[in-house]
Amino acid sequence: MNKDSIIEVLKKINYPNYSRDIVSFGIVDSIDLSDNIILLKLKLNANDEIINTIKNDINVQLKNNFPNYKINISINKLEDKVNIISDIKALKNVKYIVAIASGKGGVGKSTTTVNLASVLSKKLKVGILDLDIYGPSLPTALNINEKPKMNENNFLVPIEKDGMKLMSFGFLNNEAAPTIWRGPMVSRMTQQFFEQVEWGDLDILFLDLPPGTGDIQLTLVQKIALSGAIIVTTPQDLALLDVKKASDMFNKLNTPILGVVENMSNLLLEGFVKNNEGNFIDGSISINNSNHKIKDGKFLVDFSLFKGQGGSTESHRLGVPLLSKIPIDPELAICTDMGTPYVQKHTTHVTECFKEIGQKIIEILFHE
Ligand code: ADP
Repeated sequence: MNKDSIIEVLKKINYPNYSRDIVSFGIVDSIDLSDNIILLKLKLNANDEIINTIKNDINVQLKNNFPNYKINISINKLEDKVNIISDIKALKNVKYIVAIASGKGGVGKSTTTVNLASVLSKKLKVGILDLDIYGPSLPTALNINEKPKMNENNFLVPIEKDGMKLMSFGFLNNEAAPTIWRGPMVSRMTQQFFEQVEWGDLDILFLDLPPGTGDIQLTLVQKIALSGAIIVTTPQDLALLDVKKASDMFNKLNTPILGVVENMSNLLLEGFVKNNEGNFIDGSISINNSNHKIKDGKFLVDFSLFKGQGGSTESHRLGVPLLSKIPIDPELAICTDMGTPYVQKHTTHVTECFKEIGQKIIEILFHE
């Protein structure tokens, strides 16, 4: 019986809710054997429930395998970094790397990424790395059909459009989506994207992650030191549960969550009312039993489409800012289909929402 045999046993224990073991997760700090005691030090940042589950699983497994030993587990919650590879040369001139994540698909993660990047590209050098291997969004959202070139160092050169540097799985494989790709393959491709794309100088690189918070996402974000993460959600309760999962994932990696974006939270109806003489009037209109003011002929009706407090409550609970609430606007979907970022075509309340997110991100990262 030695340390290696203990490690072999620990490798059989999965991190709660993940199919990865606690050793590969990097939470085992040290193992010491003295007399008949196994001294195990763990470093992790997790809630009590997860810590207790892990401790319990370790106790059960070690007792089964080494019945004559006492087990002493201590947890270091302060220096609890999961190992992250951060010395990737290709990224050394990138100041900040921000992941954009969502608990599930279709909530507007890619829409947010493209419009936020577009807003920020007016003042900063911005790149987008679209890692959504099963549904890459950049080829459509920015109408890109060309394939990236290789430079003399065998690095992929990002495609430049609208003042942004862009790279996507979708640029390389335009044919059928590689739906059969599994974790290790995705991981290898991503490694290449991290190591062999000539990003050059960038202020901020956004990573558009695949939707969800499983092993693939974890492996992706574990490969580099992230400056922070933005979580996109819709206001439904289910989506909010997913927000919790996403935030747990980033907490595990000690990646700060910069904030939550609540997308499709409401519907704004804006219009004018004139009387028969053609003059704008003051008054009120009643829609679905709620009254709305008309001032100088103008009304703005704000429908909340879902019950409850949505993102504001959740972001408060997580202790992170709600970066913005983006209304439903069919123009957003039209712009995605046309391959133009919405914010480049429109100056509306929705545009202001994306600017608001951009401003808050600049404040948090650049302390401006
Ligand atoms: P995800 O990246 O989370 O899968 P997308 O950004 O691709 O989601 O959005 C899914 C669909 O919803 C797209 O057709 C997009 O244009 C549309 N969409 C996203 N946000 C809004 C919105 N606020 N209003 C209207 N349509 C939206």
